[in-house]
This record gives sequence, structure tokens and C-alpha cells, in this order.
Amino acid sequence: VAKRLEKFKTTIFTQMSMLAIKHGAINLGQGFPNFDGPEFVKEAAIHAVKDGKNQYARGYGVPDLNAAVAARFEKDTGLVVDPEKEITVTSGCTEAIAATMLGLINPGDEVLLFAPFYDSYEATLSMAGAKIKSITLRPPDFSVPIDELKSVISKNTRAILINTPHNPTGKMFTREELSVIASLCIENDVLVFTDEVYDKLAFEMDHISMASLPGMYERTITLNSLGKTFSLTGWKIGWAIAPPHLTWGVRQAHSFLTFATSTPMQYAAATALRAPDSYYEELKTDYMAKKAILVDGLKAVGFIVYPSSGTYFVMVDHTPFGLENDVAFCEYLIKEVGVVAIPTSVFYLNPEDGKNLVRFTFCKDEETLRSAVDRMKERL
Ligand code: GLN
Repeated sequence: VAKRLEKFKTTIFTQMSMLAIKHGAINLGQGFPNFDGPEFVKEAAIHAVKDGKNQYARGYGVPDLNAAVAARFEKDTGLVVDPEKEITVTSGCTEAIAATMLGLINPGDEVLLFAPFYDSYEATLSMAGAKIKSITLRPPDFSVPIDELKSVISKNTRAILINTPHNPTGKMFTREELSVIASLCIENDVLVFTDEVYDKLAFEMDHISMASLPGMYERTITLNSLGKTFSLTGWKIGWAIAPPHLTWGVRQAHSFLTFATSTPMQYAAATALRAPDSYYEELKTDYMAKKAILVDGLKAVGFIVYPSSGTYFVMVDHTPFGLENDVAFCEYLIKEVGVVAIPTSVFYLNPEDGKNLVRFTFCKDEETLRSAVDRMKERL
């Protein structure tokens, strides 16, 4: 394996889902719904396939989807973007992340991450040859340590990556935090890569896009996807929104990573994004009920449960159960209890920072969530 990828193992999500199958455990680990996406979107995909939308798509997205992404972005943020020059459709947000890193980062460039971070950030930054620095968000509220950020960010910083709502903590960046980050980025001429794939799963506060803050659009790449919002994580449709001078870099990388994204799924994605507001409201109501079942259950089981404002994840401290670290706890939970969670130490540059924390997901039907809680009540 190439040196730049040597330290990365099979992703923790894959490892845990394989163990779930092997031990017949209930999978509250990897974040994928165990229910299906909406009928009207699936119908649109069938229609696109039958309608002959089956050859290579335009590299940066079929016009219908670029237009639908622009319309939704305008509705969400008030920003008017040119669908032809400022939007690039990719194969999932994970490809958008890779294309952003590879298209805009030079070897040796310094990039800041907030830990815990989604694993692909570090791996794709490593592929790009970036020098990674991280700032740790700590429980109970995982708020941004402003003084530490001020001491780390400098004119040598090329980019900072934010993720709101945040995987794995469920934290949402507040307007105050985003404003401080924004002014530091303007002062030091830093780019912002913002992963907002959980923007429609914002329960306790309104989602704020970094691009909508004054002076920020011109230095921000906004990354999003269809998977979480429409419970279609296997479709792998994502996109990057950025001003033309930054889009150029993203598109150069995208052209040679995947060239184009699945054509019929892009047409169906455009239909999805034109869903009425009621779709998004219903999604949120459903998820709030699921969240309540899991959060109340985990508290009753005896975990220290940290507040989650958005995403379909919740972070807990497992130390009341006396196991030595997050990995040992998750192994015990799978083998002795029959439930899968995600150990979080892999999401830090310093694994020690995550040793008390594990992540559960509530993107499962209510019965599954209840059975997982029951197993933990009986066996932990
Ligand atoms: N984003 C999902 C999660 O955090 C999983 C993605 C993956 O399996 N790579 O659980």
C-alpha cells in the first residue's frame, strides 16, 4: 500500500458492520437507515432508466440536477449561485470531499480539522499530501475552543474543515462559533471546506451554512449529498458548491477521479430535491421520535449521554460500565450484549481523546431501536 495510506485500516464503519453480521448483533453503528427512501424518488429513478437516461452524464452534473441543487441552496441560504459554473455533482459527498482536497490542496499545505472528524477527511488530506493539524472538541457540549483555534490558525493555514451538524457528536456550530471562524479565515486568507450532509437533520437549532456569512461565499466550498436527507445512502449522489475560481479545482480533480456520476440517479436526485417542505418536516418529526427512544433508552441503561442537536448520531460516555477504552467497550457490546456502536478513537489524531466515547445511531426503525435498548438493559 502507498505510504500516504499506510496508517489507514479498513474503515471503522465497515469493520463494525461486518462484526454486526458475524455476531447477529443489532447495528446501531454505521449510519445507514434500515428503511427505504421515498417512493416518488424511487419512481423517478425507474422512469429515468426506462427513459434512456443511461449514458455518461455531463461531467459536472446533468443540467436538471445542477439547477435543482442551486434552487435548494437558494431556498436554504438565500445565496444565488450559477448552476453551470458553481456546482459540481459527484459520486457522494465522500467524492466531493476527495475532489476538494485533491483539487485545492498542495503537498505541504496546512489544513485544520476539528476532532473528532469523519475518517475520510484525514485519509483524503493524506492523499493530497497536506499537513494536518487538529483542534479537539470536548464533551459535554463539544464547543469550539476559540483561544486554541486562534493560537493554531495562521497565514500558513490553507484551509479549515468544518462539519455541521457534526458527525460523530451531533454538535451544531452556533452562529457565534461560525462568525469567529469566519473572521479568522478572512484575516488569515484561509479557505473553508464545509460538510453539511446532515443539514436537514437539525433538531435543536437552525442549521447555518458557513457560505451565508458575510464575506465567506468567495472562500467556501459547501459539500452536501442526497443520502441522509432521502434515506438513500447507497445512491452516492453528492455535490460541491463554490465560486468559479474554487470550482475549477474541484472539477479538475473530479474529472479524473470519476469523470461523471450515475446518470439516471442524477435525474431522480433532481426530483428528490424538488420535494415539498412537508417532506422535510415529516423526516424531522420521524427522526425526533427515533431520537427520543434511543436517548431515553441510553440514559436508562446508565450511559452518560451528551446532547445531540443534529445528525442521526448521539455520543455517550461508556465509562460507567468499567471497560478500559472505547474499542474494548464496543467489543464487549457486540459479543456479550448483541449491539453495535462505533468506537470514536479513530476520529482523533490523538486516539486517547476518544477513549471514553462511543457513538450510536438512531437511523433505524423504532422496533430495532427498542430491541437494542432492551438488550442493553438486560445484559449491560
Ligand atoms: N457516514 C456514515 C457514518 O458515519 C458511514 C459512511 C461509511 O460507511 N463510510 O456512519
